[in-house]
Amino acid sequence: MGNVRAKQTSYTYGPVPSRRLGLSLGVDIVPAKICTLDCVYCQIGRTTRRSSVRQDFIDIDAVLAELAAKLKAGLKADYITIGGSGEPTLNSRLGDLIDGIRRLTDIRVAILTNGTLLYRADVRTECAKADVVCPTLDAAEAAVFEAVHRPTRGITIEKLVSGLEQFRQEYSGQIWLEVFLVAGVNTGARQLEKLKGLIQRIRPDKVHLNTAVRPPAEPDVRAVPVAMLEAIARQIGGNCEVIGAPPAAVGDEHRQHAQVDVVSVLKRRPCSVEDICTGLAMDRTEVMKHLAHLQDLGVVTSERRGDITYFQIRADTP
Ligand code: SF4
Repeated sequence: MGNVRAKQTSYTYGPVPSRRLGLSLGVDIVPAKICTLDCVYCQIGRTTRRSSVRQDFIDIDAVLAELAAKLKAGLKADYITIGGSGEPTLNSRLGDLIDGIRRLTDIRVAILTNGTLLYRADVRTECAKADVVCPTLDAAEAAVFEAVHRPTRGITIEKLVSGLEQFRQEYSGQIWLEVFLVAGVNTGARQLEKLKGLIQRIRPDKVHLNTAVRPPAEPDVRAVPVAMLEAIARQIGGNCEVIGAPPAAVGDEHRQHAQVDVVSVLKRRPCSVEDICTGLAMDRTEVMKHLAHLQDLGVVTSERRGDITYFQIRADTP
């Protein structure tokens, strides 16, 4: 991509229900899909460009203008969440973006990051501007880290852990560490014991256990049953919890969102009908009508996982 900025028509999506952040307005600051990692469980799909080079990917002023318009239209959200289609700390203007958001609103700011660039002082300084930073730690050994994350050159588990420790020492805001468990990959007794030791060193404010409840990048990735997640949460102890269900629907406020909003939400990640109802404040009948139409058009496909059907945009949709 060189220095050419990505052309993008929409930088914000939602608000959508987040299992960790309540009602969350997503801000997408890295083009799909550029990441330092290529996780087997990634719900966005495979990484097309692995990189650890920070870059001015998009027009931050355009992002802030879009956000300002949504706020003016009456946006309500618990968090403005910086994340999206890749690793957001790869955007070299992350700090400028958070400064700009602060000038527009007092809604809290969260960052969803894989944490791999926190070994860099500039990334730690920029992340420290947020209210909540949600990094990920899924492995306690290099072999498991490589198997789960398939990192770009130069990204190692040692750098990840030392970056997280350093960030904890410098940052007084909330660190909510996500541990994403894949059955049979990082759920062994020795792995979990070592993870517990690393978590004690990192001292996050919360630990959220997650598993593949949405369709992952690799089809053979298996979810960990809830009972086992709960047992692992007890083993890790303290502030560790299994991530719960999304919040209840928010009412009629934004009822008449158009079909294009459904597409916009699904472009970011697969969703259940309830996710879309809650995120767009649409009633179930209206969502079902849009989904049926989009499936007829061949734009949307569905996949059943446990008791829930997830809808997603077909990979070849422009
Ligand atoms: S899960 Fe996150 S860190 Fe992993 S490949 Fe996807 S976007 Fe990157």
